[in-house]
Amino acid sequence: MQVIETIKEMRAVTAKYRTEGKTIGFVPTMGALHEGHMSLVRAARAENDIVIASVFVNPTQFGPNEDYTRYPRTFDEDCELLEREGCGALFFPSPEEMYGMAGSLTWVSVDQLPEHLCGLHRPDHFQGVTTVVAKFFNIVDPHRAYFGQKDYQQSVIIRRMTADLNFPVEIRVMPIVRESDGLALSSRNRYLSADERLKALALVDSLRLAEQLYSQGEKNPAVLTDMMQRSILGGAPNAKIEYIAVVHPDTLEPLKTIKGTAVIALAVVIGTTRLIDNVIIE
Ligand code: AMP
Repeated sequence: MQVIETIKEMRAVTAKYRTEGKTIGFVPTMGALHEGHMSLVRAARAENDIVIASVFVNPTQFGPNEDYTRYPRTFDEDCELLEREGCGALFFPSPEEMYGMAGSLTWVSVDQLPEHLCGLHRPDHFQGVTTVVAKFFNIVDPHRAYFGQKDYQQSVIIRRMTADLNFPVEIRVMPIVRESDGLALSSRNRYLSADERLKALALVDSLRLAEQLYSQGEKNPAVLTDMMQRSILGGAPNAKIEYIAVVHPDTLEPLKTIKGTAVIALAVVIGTTRLIDNVIIE
């Protein structure tokens, strides 16, 4: 696996693959890789000739009081995992390489969709995400790009940005990979103490409860979110619930009643760790 640190070299590598007629699957990540990321790499391998991953802890998507500096950086382990899965190249730029020494004056932002769910609590987060992903699409020039349903709102916003800006990139969204007890894999899970790790199960338990109530005929989001809140506080009494919402799968607008497909999403802080999870109900 080639490790590439400059935009110039990344462009040269991708141009060479394209000249050879190879298709490129791109997996952007912030590193601290786990099985969730690996599922994206495997999907990219299955559907393309070459996989290019990126590891970049993107400063512009972190708020001032968030965990940018302490975000786990595990470069050697990441390289090993990617190599084992047959990743062809790893793009590993510095913040200065991505944004220049003076920083960026140009931003890519999507209207409306960030005004829900995580966007309400992380004001400039999605602008940071769409800007860096647009830059990656310009630099890596992939045929397909792979994202996880784990970050549901992010996947919807990136789909929309890709369509609105006419990027010739197919967006693929892959299912959430979970631990055997149901906890959604996340790079931030490593912040959890053993006790917090147990309490974090309250998130998936509440989503499963909502699925069960829905399958028994409960179609009222207010009832579902109320039951979920009780369930979370039952399992993790000190948890800080940032939001629990039942939203439309494309517009992310809160639903008054569930008719077609809906997404139930939540963000909860356990100790000092902010965790998100969701389910799609059909
Ligand atoms: P991150 O490194 O957290 O920015 O995540 C990089 C990509 O991996 C994003 O598209 C995430 O949605 C995806 N991802 C993270 N956790 C999971 C998971 N548990 N299952 C599937 N995809 C995931």
